[in-house]
Order: sequence, then C-alpha cells, then structure tokens
Amino acid sequence: MAAVVRLLRRYPLVALTLLVGVVGGTLELAGAGGAARWVVSLFAVGVAAQQARGMLADLRAGTYGIDILAVTAIGSTVAVGEYWAALVVCLMLAGGEALEDHAAGRARRELTALLARAPQTAHLVTGDGGTRDVPVAAVVAGQELLVKPGEVVPVDAVLLSAAATVDESSLTGEPLPVEHRRGAALLSGSVNGPDALHVRATAAAADSQYQRILDLVRAAEESRAPFVRLADRVAVPFTLGALALAALAWAASGDPVRFAEVLVVATPCPLLIATPVAFLAGMSRAAKNGVIVKDGGTLERLARVRTAAFDKTGTLTHGHPRLAAVHPADGVRDPELLTLAAAVEQYSAHPLAQAVVAAARARHLPVPPARDAEEVTAAGVRATVGGRRVVVGGAGFVADQAGGVADVGVEPGQTLVHVAVDGRYAGALALADEVRADAAATVADLRRAGVRRTLMLTGDAAPTARHVAAAVGIEDVRAGLLPQDKVAVVRAVPERPVLMVGDGVNDAPVLAAADVGIAMGARGSTAASESADVVILRDDLHRTVRAVRVGRRTMRVAWQAIGIGVGLSVGLMVLAAAGFLPAIVGAGLQEVVDLACILWALRAARPGRGETAGPAGPAVQGPGRRERVDAEPLPVAS
Ligand code: ADP
Ligand code: MG
Repeated sequence: MAAVVRLLRRYPLVALTLLVGVVGGTLELAGAGGAARWVVSLFAVGVAAQQARGMLADLRAGTYGIDILAVTAIGSTVAVGEYWAALVVCLMLAGGEALEDHAAGRARRELTALLARAPQTAHLVTGDGGTRDVPVAAVVAGQELLVKPGEVVPVDAVLLSAAATVDESSLTGEPLPVEHRRGAALLSGSVNGPDALHVRATAAAADSQYQRILDLVRAAEESRAPFVRLADRVAVPFTLGALALAALAWAASGDPVRFAEVLVVATPCPLLIATPVAFLAGMSRAAKNGVIVKDGGTLERLARVRTAAFDKTGTLTHGHPRLAAVHPADGVRDPELLTLAAAVEQYSAHPLAQAVVAAARARHLPVPPARDAEEVTAAGVRATVGGRRVVVGGAGFVADQAGGVADVGVEPGQTLVHVAVDGRYAGALALADEVRADAAATVADLRRAGVRRTLMLTGDAAPTARHVAAAVGIEDVRAGLLPQDKVAVVRAVPERPVLMVGDGVNDAPVLAAADVGIAMGARGSTAASESADVVILRDDLHRTVRAVRVGRRTMRVAWQAIGIGVGLSVGLMVLAAAGFLPAIVGAGLQEVVDLACILWALRAARPGRGETAGPAGPAVQGPGRRERVDAEPLPVAS
C-alpha cells in the first residue's frame, strides 16, 4: 500500500487520472451520466491540450512529435461521446512516463552500478601512522592512502602492501578477483578484497581512469538523440497511415465513432519508449562486458561497421616488447649504447621506450639522468646525457640527425630503435613484441560480424608491420605513418563506418577521426579515452568483437520492438476500422501492446542466442581462454 502511495505521489498525473476515473464512475453509478461525461471529457481535453503544447515545442525544435495521434485520439473520442476511452488514453499517456522511467531504470542498471560505486572519501595516512579522512577530490599524486576491506580504490595507485586481491569486475567485466603484488598498479574503481591495503596515489581523482569512465558513463546515460531519429523514421508514415485509415473507416461507414475507434489503437507509445529502452539496455550490457559505449549513436554505427582499422604496437601486439639484440656501430660498446638509450627513453611513455629502460635495468646498467628531454610524437626522443646530445627513435628521425642509419638485418617482427650520439650514428636496439594470441581470432570474428575490409595503421617500419599483418590476417598494411597520416588514411576509407582500434599511446587523433574509435585498456592515455567513442576497460582485444555484436543485437532488438508495436497496432486498427473493436476495449488493448514491446526492448540487455563470449566458439570461452592467452603467446620473431 505504501508503495502504491509513493508511486502515485511520484507520478501525479497518473493519480489525477485515476481520481477523475473514480469521480466519474461514482457519478455514473449515481445516475448522473451527464455530469460524468462532462467531468471526464473536460479532464481529457485538458490533458490533450497539455500534450499539444509539448508537441508544438517539439515541432519548433525540429523533432517530430508523434503524440499528434494521442491528441487526435483524445479529441475524437471526446467528440463522439466515448469519454471513457478518452480517459484510458490519458492514463496510457500518463502511465507511459512512469513505465519509461521504470524500464529505463532496469535497462541502465549496470551503468548506474558503476556510478553508485564512486567513492566520496579517502583515508589519508598521516605522519604518525594514523589516518585522516579527506574528500577524494583533495587527494594528490604521491600521497599514501589506506584502503579498507571491501572499499573502492579511490584513485589510481601503486600497491605498497605485499599483496592484494581486488575485484575489477565493474571496470573490466572480469568476474574473478585479481591478485596483485607490491608495486603493481591498482585501477581506481576496483573493489578491495578482505585485507586493508596501503597504496600510494599515482594520480588525483580527476586524472584517474575511473573518473574518465564515470564521465563516459554519464555521457552514455544522457545521450538521447539517436533514439528519436530511429523512431522518427517510422513515426511519420505511421501517423499519416493511421489518420488516413481512420478517415477511410469514417467515410466508408458514415460513422464518426469509427474514426475515434481507429485512432485509439494507433497511439504509438512503443516508438517513443521502446527504442530508448533498447539502446540503454544495449549500453548497459556492453558495460557489463567491460566495454563502455559513449552513446546510442555509437551503438548504431557499431552495428553497421564495414571497415576495421588497427594500430599495431600495443593493440595487435601486447605492447611489452623485450630487447632481442644490440647492434652497436663501430667503436661503441653494447652497455654504453643501452645506457645512453635508456637515459633518454626514461622520459617517454612509449612502449618501446619502456622496454629499453627495462632492458637496461635488467642488465644492472646505470640509467643516468638526462637534461632537456624532448619527445617528437611517433618519431623518438632527444636529450642531453652527461653533456652529450643523444637521439633515440625510428630510422627516419635518427637519420635526420646522424646523416643515416646502419642497415642491420632484423628478424621478421622485430622493431629497430636507432641511436645517435653528438650527431654520429651509434647503433640500434632490436626489440621483439609478441602478437596477441587472440588477434587473429578477433580479425576473423569481426569479418564474420560483417566487416568487409581490414587495415593496419602503424608508425613502425614496413617489414615488421607486414609480418604482424600476415600473422593476424589483415590484408591492407600502411606503415611508417605519423599520427596525422593515420587520420588521413581513415578519412579516405570508402567502406564506412570505419572502426579504429588503438591502444591509446599517441592514437587520440585517429580515434577521434574514425566513425567509431575504440581505445583499448583502461591504462591507456587519458587523451585517447576522451577522444574515443568506446573504451575497452581490459587489455583484451577480442572485446572489440563483443562491442560490435552488442551493437548489432541492440539494433535488431530495437527494430523488432518497433515492428511488434507497429504490427500489433496496425492489426488492431484494421479490426477497429471494420467495426469489431469498441473504443474502450481498443484503448485497453493498446496498453497491452505498449507493455509487450517495452518488455521486448529490454531483451537487448541479454545476450542473443548463439552469441559466444570468447573468440572462435565455446571451446575457448571464459577463464580457459585467458589461460590459453597467457600460456601460449605467439612470438612475432620466430
Ligand atoms: P604504432 O603506430 O605501431 O603504435 P607509434 O606511432 O607509436 O607506432 O611509433 C612509430 C615508430 O616511431 C616506432 O616504431 C618507433 O620507431 C618510433 N618511436 C616513437 N617513439 C619512440 C620512442 N620513444 N623511442 C623509440 N622509438 C620511438
Ligand atoms: Mg600505438
């Protein structure tokens, strides 16, 4: 009972409509039929007038309101004395809003779950070893924090405690808790396990990945535009058809009641409610899979993708290259070359740079500080080390400074990082990156999902690029590209929409230029996740296929819901035109139609039949697939 009262209070128009119904009914029973007619009719006309005002505002804003049918239905039923049917139509209009709220709430459940978790306070570890609670927004990088059992990690941080078990499921969709050791990076938004943890913040809340995700989720929740467009394509013909059929029924029967009877079953609430519900449900389902889709329009484009373009380093490959060989120039020794390269590369976030630094550390070589470090995106880094000008990077970049680079033979799949010192060529480091085990399956499954053309866009040299492309089954390779060249290639692709998958390191421009930009991994650069339309929260390339599948299913379900609503409605209209459907019965049946197609639209939140989670079918689903990925990396340099 209390729940009913709460509902009525939240939706006053529903309450008012019911009240008018009770008053009218009482008058009718008391034998005052005329008064009942007046009360109910006046109320219905009032509701219609209010709707008409909203409709005019819609028209002025350039969107077609399809509530014109509802307004005409109320007007005509009142005019022919079917005022009870008019009241039912009013109830449907008022209830539609309540129904939409409820269905949308269910559809966006997963999205809301992410928002609800956002922590408000953090426990700052003070000098005396105690803690003090501060607002999350006040945390700065470098501060030590305590995360209590079951709490959400408030900002990106490194683990100071020996070990931690955290649940990253709301970020990555990975259901199993993840183990981390001291020094590991913890993602903000993951939920701590049973032990209290000490961590050191590596970013303020506003710069933490979780904040980016929350921003994306908020954008996803608020996006509405494409819903309207989809329904509008059907709305105009539907409205005109309904009015024409109603007029025809009137003309043929000579009875204006027929006109009202047809329009009562023509109110196309499904078009207004079912599509947004389907889109929200689709975005919610994607979020559950660790894929944040920025808006409904993206989902629609995902469903139609024709071309898929991939970045190489960090996207098709793991992006954790290791040093395979050192090729010093004459008069230079291996350790010296590596030390100088690492000294410069420590200032770069590029995967190759990190690999060079890691290799120097692994060999216990010193990594001296450098001055005036300057990175040229997708080319290399320059800096001064102990008074010497050191340049590290791709062949073209280093050749510009050193007048040329040595033509050392590399094994297929290896990438060369060249080094010049004081304007003279000093040698090259060969780095080998492993192709992701599921890269080939991802490309194949995207083809199966309707992608016609695949491209690789890379800043790396052509031989390396061709080798990786052959290993994963990509036909068209463009190598040696700068970020602006990647943009130009994507713009020129004729088969659209174009999907671009990048790992986030210097890929922000091309992700923005593509019709659907997918940024891989919540650890990628924040600039990339801002310019992308989709962010995959896990370092899992195959989720691109899931994103496309969710898009396709959402569109299918949305169109089905529209089909069911319009189909049933047209069937009822024909019955009404033939005189088999009294207005009051029709008005009631229309409510059933609305409910049916909203329930259908909610199906977009669930996986379709035959949809599998992992690449290449059920045999490699779930945790088993992960083991396969970890246990059998596919070396490029083989
Ligand atoms: P991709 O498009 O495959 O992700 P990038 O555009 O990030 O590659 O880099 C392209 C090329 O630029 C690399 O293959 C490398 O030769 C060079 N390069 C860029 N930054 C660096 C760096 N910090 N250290 C060494 N080489 C670099
Ligand atoms: Mg890259």
